Amino acid sequence: MIFYHPDCDFKFSDYGIEIPVVDDRASSVFEHLKTLDPSLTYFDPALTPQITKEDLLLAHNKDFVDRIFGSYHELEREMMSCFELVDAEGNYHRYNPKKAKKDFNHALSIVLKQTGMTYYATKNALTTGLSYFLGGGMHHAMSFAGRGFCLVNDIVITLRKLQKENLIKTAWVIDVDAHKGDGTSELTAKDASIVTLSIHMKEGWPLDSGSVGDPWFIPCNIEMGIDVGEEDQYLDRLSTALNELDQNYPRPDVAIVVNGADPYEHDELQSTDKLKLTREQMLSRDVLVYQFLLDRKIPQSYVMAGGYGKRSWEIYTQFLKFVRESSSKRSEVSSR
Ligand SMILES: [Zn+2]
Repeated sequence: MIFYHPDCDFKFSDYGIEIPVVDDRASSVFEHLKTLDPSLTYFDPALTPQITKEDLLLAHNKDFVDRIFGSYHELEREMMSCFELVDAEGNYHRYNPKKAKKDFNHALSIVLKQTGMTYYATKNALTTGLSYFLGGGMHHAMSFAGRGFCLVNDIVITLRKLQKENLIKTAWVIDVDAHKGDGTSELTAKDASIVTLSIHMKEGWPLDSGSVGDPWFIPCNIEMGIDVGEEDQYLDRLSTALNELDQNYPRPDVAIVVNGADPYEHDELQSTDKLKLTREQMLSRDVLVYQFLLDRKIPQSYVMAGGYGKRSWEIYTQFLKFVRESSSKRSEVSSR
């Protein structure tokens, strides 16, 4: 089931942020899918729970949560740092506040709506087997701060909320975004109930600055770094990582797939230059994860994560088209 409502889109340009995300990425995917299935409708975001301060504390520390719910100045500072809007010399970077149409309180409300959608879609996957939320995937947010365009970690908040409500006990997070899911690994480093796998660019993220003692270098349970020029080995390595997950960890109650499209060769964010998969390789990647979870009857919940520029919609759309076709083939077979 597809979860999407335009009121939940995080539009960078609304806040004067000049990062090359096309703000209509999710709506483009939705519109393309609608041409295949005219009955597709917007999801009613009023059905998602209000994400509270208490929910954020399931993943983040109190100081950080107090700051984002504190004064406007505190929130602004957290946003500026999370979206990397000031450079080392103290000048605005990819940021033009004169172009902002909305303030950062609005941005926070959208981040919380997105988190509510990730939660709701994942809860839905527990009964339907598969959900896809056209948003979410804020995998760089750490216990103590937002980072890498991710203010709070919707993935860990969702899983801990479902655990608190006794709907799940264990989960896997399978992260195929070009950047390592370093917030998720930091947040779950001491939590055996959430197992993390990340396949990502070997170099370039976490940003080369800093030392290996920094929290963003905390490893996932299974990590697979792909070096420059190793694209032809990507699918084999992913397969190896999934097998390792299967052999070393018990089957979980749910898996969240952090389905970033930014390893795509046509991605426009400069920091994804070190991994360039073709459109066909991207589809094979997604099908591999989908089939792996389907074969093991593990409910799968997808979030979009990174995907920058004019063509990222192609990657999400081709996969969702595949899922649609393969599930209709399966129901044809079972009704025979
Ligand atoms: Zn990314």
